[in-house]
Amino acid sequence: MSARILVVDDLEANRRLLEAKLGADYYDVLTAQRGEEAVQLAKREKPDLILMDVMMPGGIDGYEACRRLKAMPETRHIPVVILTTLDDRDNKLRGLQAGAEEFLPKPIDDVQLMARVKSLLGLKVVIDELRAREANGKRLGVIDEEARDPLEQHKLVAGNVLVVEDNATQIKSIKAALGVEHRVAVMGVDEAAGPPDLCVVSVTARAFDGFRVIARMRSGEATRHLPILAVVEPDDRKRIVRALELGAHDVISRPIDEEELVARARTLMRRKRYMDALRARLDHSLELAITDQLTGLYNRRFLMNQLTPLVQRAQCGGDQVSIMTIDIDHFKRLNDTYGHDVGDGVLRDFSVRLGANTRPSDFACRMGGEEFVVIMPRTSGDIACLAAERLRRSVCASPFIVAGQQSELEVTVSIGVACTGDGEDTVETLLKRADEAVYEAKAAGRNRVVGKSASRAA
Ligand SMILES: [Mg+2]
Repeated sequence: MSARILVVDDLEANRRLLEAKLGADYYDVLTAQRGEEAVQLAKREKPDLILMDVMMPGGIDGYEACRRLKAMPETRHIPVVILTTLDDRDNKLRGLQAGAEEFLPKPIDDVQLMARVKSLLGLKVVIDELRAREANGKRLGVIDEEARDPLEQHKLVAGNVLVVEDNATQIKSIKAALGVEHRVAVMGVDEAAGPPDLCVVSVTARAFDGFRVIARMRSGEATRHLPILAVVEPDDRKRIVRALELGAHDVISRPIDEEELVARARTLMRRKRYMDALRARLDHSLELAITDQLTGLYNRRFLMNQLTPLVQRAQCGGDQVSIMTIDIDHFKRLNDTYGHDVGDGVLRDFSVRLGANTRPSDFACRMGGEEFVVIMPRTSGDIACLAAERLRRSVCASPFIVAGQQSELEVTVSIGVACTGDGEDTVETLLKRADEAVYEAKAAGRNRVVGKSASRAA
């Protein structure tokens, strides 16, 4: 599907012109002639990019429209390019301060327009992907519905700026501009305060090839998501387009206007924080989705997802899979005597011992309460029983020391082992057999291992 671009301009001739240019590159174009109309249309149609004229008589101007778009959660992720007349520095700054991603002077240069559109749409694809996955996470309940929009949360935090430049005058002016809000380090000169949030790269330096720096950063694992602001010579269209094509997110021309640099840096860093926050939240939510909060072991959902294909494969003649179900003996009595905090401490200590006694290929899960299951792929019942016996011994060999509890606690476990056999095993029958084995171990006096093979269970 082609990207949809909203063109906002009060003059029909301008709308037509942009519509024709963008249409020729197969973009779908929506148009609006007033600021209010643009805001409503953007809210309803969710375009991928907005090109916004500044001067629109009879209503709000382009800056105000941009500010409103950036204030609404439904539209703040849509990039806005402000279009205004040439050499109008104050207007340019106002646009960037209103939250616009880019600024383009009128009359519009076709090559620059297309390069910027392409670069912004590329970023938008990434943001959309992250937003879609976050929406899925919310539906699954693994992301807090109330969680605040990260774009809002991270608005005004100082960041680390890495400057790749060999011109002393430019360095001085970059430091003067960005040093007020951020920590600025020049590559090869200063020690960086931390991983960068923004990189300013000169593409006209003599000492190094700025394009190569941009390309390398764009492809490096650690710097792939780093926003890059390229410093170019004014009117050097070829280099501007080349920088954007190689992956610079924005360009600024020398001599550097300090206020413009501040505004561009702010916009780039805000977008990076937005993407970082979305990404971090996703990683965290994925982890939450598969781990038990108390012990850090896998949870029941994860266990079922892992076990199902393993059992199915075993049924089709694949490798055997064994499981052990572990129950902490007299756990209820322990909880009642010492309280839940001590009970939780025992569960945690046990989880550490469990982790130490499983192989990297095993999956240790907490099913709930004091019940645990370990999945052992490619493992026969005999080997699984040996592993279970080793675990049992490690639990009773030394007492548990729980924070806030003076006396050491003697803890034992009963373990049931089951292995896929010749029969018609399913996840349910396998888990049931291991449960029965635990029950037998308890009945026989606890602190022991009972193994049940498929044939014996049948
Ligand atoms: Mg106008």
